[in-house]
Amino acid sequence: MRLRLALLLGALVAVPVPAASPPAVDLLITHARVFDGRSGRLRENTEILVAAGRIVALRDTGSGSREGIDPARIIDAGNRVVIPGLIDAHVHPTIAVPIAALRDNDPNYVAARSAVEARAILMRGFTSIRDMGGPVFGLQQAIDEGLVEGPRIFPSGAIVSQTSGHGDFRSRTAQPRRWSGDTDALERLGYGLIADGPDEVLAAVREQLRAGATQVKLAAGGGISSMYDPIDSVQYVEEELRAAVRAAADWGTYVAVHAYTPAAIRRSVEAGVRSIEHAHLIDETTMKLMAERGVFLSPQAYVFSGVFAQPLPPGAPPPSAAQAAQRAKSAQVSAGLDHMMRLARKHGVKIAFGTDVFGATRVFAWESLEFGARLRWFTPLEILRQATSVNGELLALSGPRNPHAGAPLGVIEPGAWADLLVVEGNPLEDIRVLEQPEQNLRLILKGGRVVRSTL
Ligand SMILES: [Zn+2]
Repeated sequence: MRLRLALLLGALVAVPVPAASPPAVDLLITHARVFDGRSGRLRENTEILVAAGRIVALRDTGSGSREGIDPARIIDAGNRVVIPGLIDAHVHPTIAVPIAALRDNDPNYVAARSAVEARAILMRGFTSIRDMGGPVFGLQQAIDEGLVEGPRIFPSGAIVSQTSGHGDFRSRTAQPRRWSGDTDALERLGYGLIADGPDEVLAAVREQLRAGATQVKLAAGGGISSMYDPIDSVQYVEEELRAAVRAAADWGTYVAVHAYTPAAIRRSVEAGVRSIEHAHLIDETTMKLMAERGVFLSPQAYVFSGVFAQPLPPGAPPPSAAQAAQRAKSAQVSAGLDHMMRLARKHGVKIAFGTDVFGATRVFAWESLEFGARLRWFTPLEILRQATSVNGELLALSGPRNPHAGAPLGVIEPGAWADLLVVEGNPLEDIRVLEQPEQNLRLILKGGRVVRSTL
């Protein structure tokens, strides 16, 4: 009505209606050598125009008008390489203390630590992450409100697990949950949710979607950090997996599963799961199936490179039975790493970049070491693509649940979110420059906002 009135008045007094003008450029980055997330050829001597949090144009430095651009908002990249903000497809910022310690600490303390880790993740250049299990919704809110510094978060919520599965962290002496048992502390806190049978799985998945999950994570096979499920155990029957996929699909999104073995992976892929986390013990037939179905492989190289299986230093107390069992499981999984990566390469599966770091600041700091750890199988270009455009494609699977929809992530192109990094050194020649973020990330830009700059 108001619009019609305005049009009418406009016509009466013949006021010219201003043409829709492009948003004012609020940041200009000059002299950039741009890696766009895909191409192995850098776009030299480039200017990146940013407006309203997005990249609006790329052009040769000095080739266009700078009228209306505040000189204070011009950043000279000094002919350094500029890459899209990195994406970690598998990380757990809310497991900010060791899993066992989650029970014994005030959740507010753990939340404070999570905020510290989220900031550190961003300062390592990861401007987006997929959270693969944990009560991360509050942290996401605090970051999006600008209360604390951190990456864009794609939350999964609690890991949905069968009784005895990888998300069942109850003590050995816990009472059977269907009869006399109580809800476990880690379930109450939102780290895991135990659900058996299609009905409970539907409800458990819907609880996560209701809370704001952008995708849902199920445990489909044995795990290391869970104490009582052998690695070779297959978790969830077909009907349960299908129920989860259906509930997620009804919300326009997808299911990711934790799985190492061919049996667990195959069953999940057949049920419609879109992302396999870990997969270290996969065989060739199953890898081919993943390639055929376009299912993402989300492996980790560094944390499975044997860092958890190193011999204890002399004089260290002997490991507890539980620690010894976990070390054995870790060694079992790590043994599959090389074979899995070779198969993934051979069959051209979409390989995400994820680190699975959690539990302690020392471990979170390993996040950057994933870059070098992948050099055994991939070129720097391939690794950079995994951490940018391939992961961007994975995040986009959240469809209408994507909290940052409307602009792509992981690429530098007109229309994309202005998440980018100015790097000292050329990561296409030496990917390990990203392992020293403090020194080599000279500028971190998230949504067009300067988060850190030493330029
Ligand atoms: Zn994980």
